Amino acid sequence: MNKAFIKENDGADQGFCPRCGQAGIAVDEAPLETHLPPELRATLGRSVYWCDHPDCRVAYFDNFDAVVGVESLRGPVAPKDPAAPLCSCFGVTYDDVQEDAEEGKPTRIRELYRRSQSPEAACGRLAPSGRCCLPSVQKLYFQLRGGID
Ligand SMILES: [Zn+2]
Repeated sequence: MNKAFIKENDGADQGFCPRCGQAGIAVDEAPLETHLPPELRATLGRSVYWCDHPDCRVAYFDNFDAVVGVESLRGPVAPKDPAAPLCSCFGVTYDDVQEDAEEGKPTRIRELYRRSQSPEAACGRLAPSGRCCLPSVQKLYFQLRGGID
């Protein structure tokens, strides 16, 4: 028997957005409690995923193609709404990152990094994906830096 064909999890931890097809980020209950009214949480199954595609209007979905749209969330969130703070914990915005990029020094991002390591950070509960925003903030910084140079 060829071991390459034996899958451990058989896709149990993987979900693809029924609207845009991008792989979702598996979330636990904490971000769902923050961003969804309980009656909408009840429309989704046990395994729920966050769609992180900025242009896709799906926020959460499950393995049975049930979706909750961005418009049903309790408030605007990144990356779905360009005006929403990038960081759910400390409110770092696109403009903050742009200022860092223009100054050529990631001062605000370093501060964000410092705070993200502290007990104040609550990404697991506050971020819609339940993940820390730093990787996307850093990516944006380098994108904006690239645009200046
Ligand atoms: Zn999507």
